[in-house]
Amino acid sequence: MSNQINRDRLLERFLAYVGVDTAANPDTTRYPSSAGQWELGNLLTQQLEDLGADYPHQDEHGLVWASVPATDGGNSPTIALIAHLDTSPEAPSANISPQVIKNYEGGDILLPSGQVIRVDQTPELNDLIGSTLITTDGTTLLGGDDKAGVAIIMELAQHLIENPHLEHGTVRILFTCDEEIGRGTDKINLSKLDAAAAYTLDGGGAGDLDVETFSADAATVTFRGHNIHPAIAKGRMVNAVRAAAYFVDLLPRDQQTPETTSGREGFIHAHNIHGGVGNATVELILRSFDTAELDLFADQIRTLAETVQEHFPGLQVDVQVRSQYRNLAEGLQQSPEVVQFAEQAYQNLQRTYRKTIIRGGTDGSQLTEKGLPTPNLSSGQHNIHAVHEFACLDQMEDAIEHLVELLRLWSQQAKS
Ligand SMILES: [Zn+2]
Repeated sequence: MSNQINRDRLLERFLAYVGVDTAANPDTTRYPSSAGQWELGNLLTQQLEDLGADYPHQDEHGLVWASVPATDGGNSPTIALIAHLDTSPEAPSANISPQVIKNYEGGDILLPSGQVIRVDQTPELNDLIGSTLITTDGTTLLGGDDKAGVAIIMELAQHLIENPHLEHGTVRILFTCDEEIGRGTDKINLSKLDAAAAYTLDGGGAGDLDVETFSADAATVTFRGHNIHPAIAKGRMVNAVRAAAYFVDLLPRDQQTPETTSGREGFIHAHNIHGGVGNATVELILRSFDTAELDLFADQIRTLAETVQEHFPGLQVDVQVRSQYRNLAEGLQQSPEVVQFAEQAYQNLQRTYRKTIIRGGTDGSQLTEKGLPTPNLSSGQHNIHAVHEFACLDQMEDAIEHLVELLRLWSQQAKS
């Protein structure tokens, strides 16, 4: 009985999965948005069948489900592990030609296309000397986001089944579709998942435990003016174009914008403006780690809208604010053990780790809001969505070891 992770098989899996083009397609409403996701999902279902997982199947939406049966008598909570099948449409993804660098010696990496992954732009390379890296040929992305997560979960499943002495409860496996175009949680049936907690394997590098995301609202400000032929407009025209422009001009510029904030600072971001003299609309997103601050941002927008209205007699202004998602931390507070076990597992393995915050949302923030606490874990991805993307096999291996220990802790706790 060996607790050694099968690195060669992990690498082989990863290379097979990146070989299937699963780029999401934002220009269709089909689900999933691309045929490649069906193809990869079908391959994974077959592999799950072969390795002896329980009830592997691809559902009518293309999501892949399976379970690894409990070895601890089944009285501990079911834990779900989630990764997404699709890759980003933001870089070419057809005919990926992965390059395996064993025992990376350090320094810049010259790719076959002539592109270079430079150490000064990717300083984490300094920590990866001696590791096995997988790059592209420099003409496509790699798709480690999130096929690294997929390979980690698949190899973990086989490792657990081959090592029945490892203690764990039921492990639910779920591969989702169209995460990259914001539809990753659309088709997840939480009662079917039936898990006490979940972890997404979709983070960069190693040892990151993403426990906070932004809270997010969106606002639409509509300016209704009055259009009339310019020849006879004197004293009658109310120009919504000018009103919208004035409103944007009044918005904070030296602070509270994406361009001027970092870390824990929130922002008001005007990202779309369209319209004409009769009607113009400005779309904004509001982001803060502090959900209460979103209300202050909304008040700020309403006040500015009123100012604009005062300057344009006859103008009507309407402000609509809608909720998008909430800080992951709010939901995780209800179930602190979900993060504590992940931390404890790192500590037990004597690994360094960081609790990190994401200036954005994750599938986990949506799932957590719906009642399934779901932090995000590292999966060895680097330089994602770019032709300089690479993945680190050693970090993927680390992630599997971490999951083995994490699942053991969940099982142990149920006993005490
Ligand atoms: Zn991802």
